[in-house]
Amino acid sequence: MPLFGPPNVAQLEAKGDVQGLIKALLYKDAAVRLAAAEALTPLKHPIAVDPLAAALHDDNPGVRKACVGALAARGGLRVVNPLVGALHDPDANVRSAAAAAVYRRLMTDPDQDARQATVTALGKLRPADAVDPLIKAIMDADEGVRVAAIKSLQAIGDVRAIPSLVVVLAHEQVRQKATGRSSANVERAASAALDVLCGPNAIEPLTASFGHDDADVREIAVRRLAKIGSPLVADCLVVALSDEDPVIRRSAARGLQEIGWQPPANKIGANYWAALREWRRCGECGSDAIPVLISAFHHVDALEQAEIVASLLQVGWKPDEAEVADDMAGHYWVSQRRWDKCIEIGEPATHALDMFVQSAPVWRERVAAATTLAAIGQARPYPFHRLDLIRDGLALLDSEETADEKRAALESFLAHAHMYKPAAGERIEFCRCGYPAARVRKDGLREPLTDMLGFEHTGANSTTYYCPSCDTRRISVAR
Ligand SMILES: [Zn+2]
Repeated sequence: MPLFGPPNVAQLEAKGDVQGLIKALLYKDAAVRLAAAEALTPLKHPIAVDPLAAALHDDNPGVRKACVGALAARGGLRVVNPLVGALHDPDANVRSAAAAAVYRRLMTDPDQDARQATVTALGKLRPADAVDPLIKAIMDADEGVRVAAIKSLQAIGDVRAIPSLVVVLAHEQVRQKATGRSSANVERAASAALDVLCGPNAIEPLTASFGHDDADVREIAVRRLAKIGSPLVADCLVVALSDEDPVIRRSAARGLQEIGWQPPANKIGANYWAALREWRRCGECGSDAIPVLISAFHHVDALEQAEIVASLLQVGWKPDEAEVADDMAGHYWVSQRRWDKCIEIGEPATHALDMFVQSAPVWRERVAAATTLAAIGQARPYPFHRLDLIRDGLALLDSEETADEKRAALESFLAHAHMYKPAAGERIEFCRCGYPAARVRKDGLREPLTDMLGFEHTGANSTTYYCPSCDTRRISVAR
């Protein structure tokens, strides 16, 4: 048996002689070194890690590749830096073995510290093929790994990471809304990475997120795009103006507003103004605005509904009388003061009539609208205490008689309705328009004829009364 013969790797392996195999890694014959590395692979012994890592600098690519395999088989935190370093090996075969070891083995290592160290090391080394594996790591079960992956993607600076970062951010925000809990670290990291990555090159990846099913994702993409502040983003934001989600439409419109975009007077302009809920400007876009205004109508409050109908009237819209009448038709006929049509369509007109009796500037028109409501079986306790008396009073005032005859007729009518007692020395004081205003008692005290007036709740505790004939404000009283 020769004293200084080559080490017998097979024998060392059979004996489980780790020290002997480690020594053999330094033997002058490359075939021996390679065999030693392969023999160490299944043993996964901790003392072999450093010698195998050192052997990653071996002159022979086959040995280096075998060492990559041995370290990958062991896994864990200690092999991270040597294996990530091997991604830059001069030999293509070694590099591809290292890529498999890092991206498949280490990034799924059961030890979260090993996974985190791997993604952090990749952020420092910045190999070109790390982007996709790091994007996957954004979804890692461990928060520390997720944050490290996001930071490494930020360091690499590849805009392909943007759609995933947007999804992660939306996910955390949804979790915050739903459970009150989210990962503040992940959210902060994703937001910071997007701040860095969302330059002019981000337009394409952000636009790609517009197609996402999740509205929160689309919203973040639109907001980020709007923040880029380049004229190039206008076309993309215009696309988002017709998104199904109003929040996204509004974000897109605000972004366009910020970059000084000028809306054209067509469907695009109509979408833009509708997103900002500027219904009058929307109507100024012409007949293209009609479908936009009609579809917006059922998603806004009563006040805006009236504005929408006003804009529709501006562009010459009329309800289709052949179809079943809806709220919009009600607003239309109210705007035309066509009380007969309101009675004809009935219930769908009540909404518009209700708004009208509460806000029309001309009180005689409020009387007409309240009368219409009563006619379709929707009598209201406002803004008249006694609509019947007011209507009769106005009819007497509007008669063909002389002023004196009208006064006499009104006095007799009011006495008959028990509004005042002439026999007790009371008299009626009239508005300058000739409509009754107050009862003056024998002792000179004046009491407004509130049943004969229109009223509005003005402020939390006061009611103001108006002459229903000439709109004069009569009195405010505490409730
Ligand atoms: Zn008056």
